[in-house]
Amino acid sequence: MTKSRTEKVLIIGSGLGGLSTAIILAKLGFNVTVLEKNRKPGGLLRSYTRDGIECEVGVHYLGSLGKGQVLRKFFDYLGVTDAVPVSRMGRDGVIDRYLFNAPSGHPIYFDFPEGLVAYKKNLIKAFPKEHATIETIISSIQKTSSQLHALDLLYATDNDFSLLDQSQPYGDVLDELKCSPELRSVLGVPSSWVGVPLADCPVYYHNMALASYVSSSWRLQQSGAAFVDVLVARLKELGGNVVTGSEISKVNVESRVVKGVELKSGKYVLASTVIAAIHPQVLLQMLPDRAVKPSYRNRVTKLKNTHSVFSVQASIDANSHPEIPHNLFKVETDKKGNIADLIYYQIRKTEKKNMNLLSILTSGKDELWSRWKESQTASRGPGYRDAKKRYAMKLVSGAEELFGSFKDLKLLDTYTPLTIRDWVGSPEGSAYGVLRSSSQTLATAILNRTAVKGLYLSGQNVLAPGVIGTIMGSFSTVKLIIGPDEFKKSICLQE
Ligand SMILES: Cc1cc2nc3c(=O)[nH]c(=O)nc-3n(C[C@H](O)[C@H](O)[C@H](O)COP(=O)(O)OP(=O)(O)OC[C@H]3O[C@@H](n4cnc5c(N)ncnc54)[C@H](O)[C@@H]3O)c2cc1C
Repeated sequence: MTKSRTEKVLIIGSGLGGLSTAIILAKLGFNVTVLEKNRKPGGLLRSYTRDGIECEVGVHYLGSLGKGQVLRKFFDYLGVTDAVPVSRMGRDGVIDRYLFNAPSGHPIYFDFPEGLVAYKKNLIKAFPKEHATIETIISSIQKTSSQLHALDLLYATDNDFSLLDQSQPYGDVLDELKCSPELRSVLGVPSSWVGVPLADCPVYYHNMALASYVSSSWRLQQSGAAFVDVLVARLKELGGNVVTGSEISKVNVESRVVKGVELKSGKYVLASTVIAAIHPQVLLQMLPDRAVKPSYRNRVTKLKNTHSVFSVQASIDANSHPEIPHNLFKVETDKKGNIADLIYYQIRKTEKKNMNLLSILTSGKDELWSRWKESQTASRGPGYRDAKKRYAMKLVSGAEELFGSFKDLKLLDTYTPLTIRDWVGSPEGSAYGVLRSSSQTLATAILNRTAVKGLYLSGQNVLAPGVIGTIMGSFSTVKLIIGPDEFKKSICLQE
């Protein structure tokens, strides 16, 4: 059913999901307001400043911004391409460098380059005996890549979820191909970008993540906060609005029809369309008991989420440690080649001429922070701060083994799963939201459709995490709201 465009649409959450959904709807003429609990908009996309240096949270690099590629099509439609300056990675042949511990003790590395042809060449060079396996793997990625850039997921006529048919676990596919543990560990890195272990990562998600970065990879030239400002300004230009400091505590529903929202302040806002650009389990807690069927409640409650992250931000002397134009991943694997642990490093220029920023990201290690789970940031005390510092310095020492001793290192900040949880409200600080595993394929399908009329979900939980996955989810939610025929007529992304 086509919605009247004069009616009010409320969006809960001003992360990339909320803002991109808002811009698309505002472009279509809807009256859109985004309500954000934090004082500043942007959610994970928003960087923060320490000692005058911008520290990123949820955008370290972007995939597929080349002409004709999927994210470029999205940015062009949103009208933000020129306002978000980016620089292309991989000009020296490396976007990501993976470092593995070899039995000899000397780390061995694999370079992830731009372009599938170069990627295949690097794989064959590293694993010459597995030429045939690599051919099979590359042709499957090639297929997904074409589907991704052609936006089949949004425009496929036969069955919107035909791509998700490739839901077999990638680990099983590699078992069938008798892939060596070493090749398996190289192929396992892309699925970690969407927070899913390779063994249970659907073929489609693995290939989509890989294709999105191998097609072309880019770094923001400005901060994540500047990116958020561009999105907010664009929304305002289109007549929409963002209201910060507005935490939603309830979504009002009568007879399974949405009526509006209630703010923590006690204020009510009426609306016949509400889009929750937040985690579905968080939305569920905002709904009255009988608003949805027990089966829906059960399905959403049981969803497993991706792990959280721990991150270190430190300033270092720029002369002894210049910017590295690619990312580094230190990979630990088990005997089968499955990834047991992963540490991500970036060294980038900062606003300060003589200082560069070392960023380290790794899995959240929830057990280290569980003692402080019940307390809020301000009351976690010195024990929490010491624990963060100890773990951060351990990670810095590990980084020094790779990059040499850092001169003038100053720890600027660390964030834990609790920080992420409290900043954006994701369950247990989950970084990439709902786990898109093969075992959860059915439970995670069509998550943007709730059991309440007029109530939808958007954001990274709808289709896939990451900048591409989140914006794709926004388009998919708009399609659900205005209907597929109207979507095709009004939104042309494919040329
Ligand atoms: C550490 C990290 C690194 C990443 N790196 C990359 C990368 O390099 N490249 C890439 O493409 N992707 C990356 N991602 C993923 C990407 O950042 C996310 O997929 C994307 O930003 C998610 O956007 P979202 O809008 O779905 O969620 P969020 O950003 O979590 O937004 C949700 C918003 O809702 C608000 N909210 C929650 N509850 C309420 C409430 N009750 N009332 C009002 N507002 C509420 C929150 O405050 C928040 O602003 C990374 C993610 C993480 C965590």
